Amino acid sequence: MINKEILQNIKVLYVEDEVEVRNFTAKTIQAIVKELVVAENGQDGVEKFKQNQDIDLIVTDINMPKMGGLEMCEAIQEINPNIPIVITSAHNDPDFLKKAIDIGVDAYAMKPVDLYQLLDCMIKAMEPIFLRKQLEQLNLSLESKVEEGIKKIKLILDAQDNMVIVTNGITISHVNKRFLDFFNKRSLEEYLQSNQCIYTSFKKEPNFFHQEMINGDESWIESIQKLPEIQRVVKLTNQEGEDRVFTVKIHQYDQDETYYVISLTDITQIKQKSNLLEYQANHDALTGLYNRQKFNDIFTKEIRRSRRYANFLSVILFDIDNFKAINDSYGHDAGDEVLKKIADIISVNLRQTDSLVRWGGEEFIVLLPETDLQTACNVAQKLLESLTVLTFDFMQEKITASFGVATLNETDTECTLINRADEALYEAKRNGKNQVFKEKV
Ligand code: GH3
Ligand code: MG
Ligand code: MG
Repeated sequence: MINKEILQNIKVLYVEDEVEVRNFTAKTIQAIVKELVVAENGQDGVEKFKQNQDIDLIVTDINMPKMGGLEMCEAIQEINPNIPIVITSAHNDPDFLKKAIDIGVDAYAMKPVDLYQLLDCMIKAMEPIFLRKQLEQLNLSLESKVEEGIKKIKLILDAQDNMVIVTNGITISHVNKRFLDFFNKRSLEEYLQSNQCIYTSFKKEPNFFHQEMINGDESWIESIQKLPEIQRVVKLTNQEGEDRVFTVKIHQYDQDETYYVISLTDITQIKQKSNLLEYQANHDALTGLYNRQKFNDIFTKEIRRSRRYANFLSVILFDIDNFKAINDSYGHDAGDEVLKKIADIISVNLRQTDSLVRWGGEEFIVLLPETDLQTACNVAQKLLESLTVLTFDFMQEKITASFGVATLNETDTECTLINRADEALYEAKRNGKNQVFKEKV
């Protein structure tokens, strides 16, 4: 399916900060395209683009010193809003996909970069522009050679890696092979027997564009174009019954005749990865509980909400007793096992609206909205008792913990509230551990 013709006549800007990756990849790209400009970081990339405004395509890394790849693309888009972009990324930024779609990235190559994949991505990104040029040329000579013209359109469309459809918004006039393969149809006519247009295939799900979001008597294309790029995402079910996620790019080919070329880029894999990253960024790897960063977000919101509605908000801070001794006697892995089981048993003893976080090594915090000090103490007591059922193959001793409880007052910040819970916890430890203490009021 590689359509090398697309790459032969283009000038590419390649941006990468790692010297070895840069040298190696640049050599390959160089051999395939007409001209290559190389930059070492985002800032350098913008400079080079300004000096070479005839660049046709950008291939860039994301995380780079001085200026990152996405930021660079935004700066370059101010000069040329239609420049196709391919990014190469190791995906260590959870917000990455959102930003990438927002700025209209055309294709993604995962790092470490597989060169064939990279070339595929470059072709994918160049296709719509190439296609438009070909169609324009074709149109000039179309009257005399209609038949030949149609044949050529078909060839061009079939060479595309994305699903491509040509439509007036109401019905479809052309689709490519990818499209037919995806829906397992032999011809467009067969597809149109059960579907009026592509939008009837969009799955109705939150966060995805679908038929019910079409306004009044607009066409689906007019409606989806009113959404920001990030929301121009649809879900389609393929012939195997598998859901795939696509970004929708719309190229208006002819202003007068309302004639659109739509290309659908499959982002399922990258979206799954990005969801995973978002999970990883918010959760503790050992226990699966919220981590401190995520908890801080929740905490700030809950404090705001509690003040607004004049509700109570309490926190329980607890710390496992003599945990160091468990590590010392049975090993670090045993200690980890204990932490996991504690996280599980505490979780099942809380309400849905409570939040549990691994605050530090063997310290945890529970946030209890709409709960006063005494009720929170009762909850803490229940949690303390829930630990008594825990047993471990490797040891006889029972696990206990000490609990400190405090409630939000009018002048509290996140810090002062936790400090008071911490003082109460300290008192519980000093008083012999395995007990609940509340703040002094
Ligand atoms: P106290 O009853 O006063 O709380 O004593 P303690 O031994 O529980 O507290 P201390 O703060 O002295 O020791 C906590 C230990 O927890 C030390 C640290 O190595 C261990 N720890 C912290 N994080 C982890 C972890 O992720 N896994 C394991 N296995 N141990 C951890
Ligand atoms: Mg401890
Ligand atoms: Mg501790």
